[in-house]
Amino acid sequence: MDYQLVRSKRRTLALRVAPDGQIEVRAPLRLGRRHIDDFVREHQDWIRRQQDYWRTRPRQHWRDGDTVPHLGRPVRLNLVEAARTRVGLEHDTLTVAMPLPASEEAVREAVEAWWRRLARGEFLRSIERQFHWFAARGHGAPVLRIKKMRTRWGSLSQRGYINLNLALMRYDLEVIDYVVMHELCHLEYAHHGPQFHALMDRRMPDWRRRKQRLDQFLPE
Ligand SMILES: [Zn+2]
Repeated sequence: MDYQLVRSKRRTLALRVAPDGQIEVRAPLRLGRRHIDDFVREHQDWIRRQQDYWRTRPRQHWRDGDTVPHLGRPVRLNLVEAARTRVGLEHDTLTVAMPLPASEEAVREAVEAWWRRLARGEFLRSIERQFHWFAARGHGAPVLRIKKMRTRWGSLSQRGYINLNLALMRYDLEVIDYVVMHELCHLEYAHHGPQFHALMDRRMPDWRRRKQRLDQFLPE
């Protein structure tokens, strides 16, 4: 199997299959090539399954009548003509009023701009729901930044920012809370070692179940 090799200062091997089916291996700086080849061979079945997933995954469309996940439930896109762009949700109908005809990309941008405004409130409330324990430990509240990220759901920077992926708006609060809790636990531990997971177990005993509900793949 052909793969792209990225070496970096890390201790373990990691494997990723991109949406186009390409295999990417991340490896420690000095690990021998044979070791890496073996690793890829041992994961052949897993790689094939990921490639199948990408091949058969239905693409998200942004046309009138298409379904979009919003905070964990499907809502129907309703495109209507208007001079100025406006987005609003009523029951299960997400109405996008904008100059028509509009490309799918333009509709998607309108919905994403609307999501971004909503996300600020949702993500801040999630932080508030869960921050009390960390505040009692003396941590300052991180500053929220909402980003479109291709490779991660969230991150916590040393400079006090919590970065959350806008695409989390597809999920319900149970999943959003999981990603937020994961990042908050990085206030205590900057790694994913046993202590980090022990803290996750204490703060959110069912975090593994919630994590499983996240697509393992990020939006393209
Ligand atoms: Zn992490």
